[in-house]
Amino acid sequence: MVSKVVFGRGSFNQLNEIIEPKRQNQRAPFIYFIDDVFENNPNLISRISLLYDDYIIFISSVEEPKTTQVDALVEDIILNTKALPSGIIGIGGGTVMDLAKAVSVMLTNNGLSEEYQGWDLLKTPGVYHVGIPTISGTGAEVSRTAILCGSKLKLGLNSDFTPFDQVILDPELTDGVEKNQWFYTGMDCFIHCVESLNGNFINTFSKSYGKMAYELCHEVFLGNDSFEEMQDKLMIASWHGGMSIAYSQVGVAHAMSYGLSFVLGIKHGVGNCIVFQHLEEFYPKDVAIFKSMMKKHNITLPKDVCKSLTQKQMDAMIDVALSLTPLWENAIGNQWKSVITRSKLEKLYSKM
Ligand code: NAD
Ligand code: ZN
Repeated sequence: MVSKVVFGRGSFNQLNEIIEPKRQNQRAPFIYFIDDVFENNPNLISRISLLYDDYIIFISSVEEPKTTQVDALVEDIILNTKALPSGIIGIGGGTVMDLAKAVSVMLTNNGLSEEYQGWDLLKTPGVYHVGIPTISGTGAEVSRTAILCGSKLKLGLNSDFTPFDQVILDPELTDGVEKNQWFYTGMDCFIHCVESLNGNFINTFSKSYGKMAYELCHEVFLGNDSFEEMQDKLMIASWHGGMSIAYSQVGVAHAMSYGLSFVLGIKHGVGNCIVFQHLEEFYPKDVAIFKSMMKKHNITLPKDVCKSLTQKQMDAMIDVALSLTPLWENAIGNQWKSVITRSKLEKLYSKM
């Protein structure tokens, strides 16, 4: 679990004060990974004090994080800093936060990040790392994984060393998020709850968080809250949704969306939505609720994304989806292979 968290509008102002005691020495910098959407945003950048050798790397989140990108960042940091960094601070959405988590652990574990895609493969704690979400929904700020696209798989570095040491939840940082993106990433949270609450791995710990997040999602996406209330609630829903899956698992939408993302580069939030709308068979009540949320907010989704796939691409997509055994075990049960066949997945993908 994340060991320290602060929440509140304006709490980003506490960042410098929070991290300074963690500075190892003047040669060991804090390195900030910041979504490049903030590159020309003085309101955010001016509140960061860069001391000694501290520096900022602006990260594009046009594509999801890759193992090669993590390895290049690690190499760059090792070559350009005089000592192991005092900390990595990720400011952005799931893309930037996952990169910050992955780089933090790969700075202290030998080899390439691809070797650690899986569960509990990392051997050593990473350097101190801080997560500051600027868009709400993924739960990456609280989860024990950093999801990466590798040469063979899209799979996370899941470990006890992956979670942030400190998180700052400041809903004001989500001010500039564009509406469709707000919905797609917010629905990631809704889908986390649906998949956790309806899965076989559900337990009292996960259920309590999942229920809270699920209710908050209803209030945010179907209620009449003010903009500020919606920001606050979605940020906390994201946290609880992440806590819920930390001790259970996601399900059908995530397994299939990983395939879309790996083969077509479709991003996680929108990919989940593209898949989820076709999952009445698995989550009938919640697919109907999802559709009413889409309607209320006038959201349109990309259509026919699988229309011109070659058979080779379709097979690769199915391979990625089928590789996610724990997700299927959670959603369907131990006998999942008799239900989730290649032809069933191909039929579902063909609708998308
Ligand atoms: P994202 O980080 O990719 O950001 C989406 C878009 O929103 C980007 O264009 C970004 O520039 C923009 N943006 C972010 N904050 C903004 C702001 N305040 N104002 C204006 N624009 C802003 O989106 P995401 O949905 O948060 O993250 C997706 C990633 O998270 C995927 O790589 C996925 O694999 C990962 N993920 C991780 C976990 C986990 O537990 N580690 C869980 C779910 C998803
Ligand atoms: Zn997700």
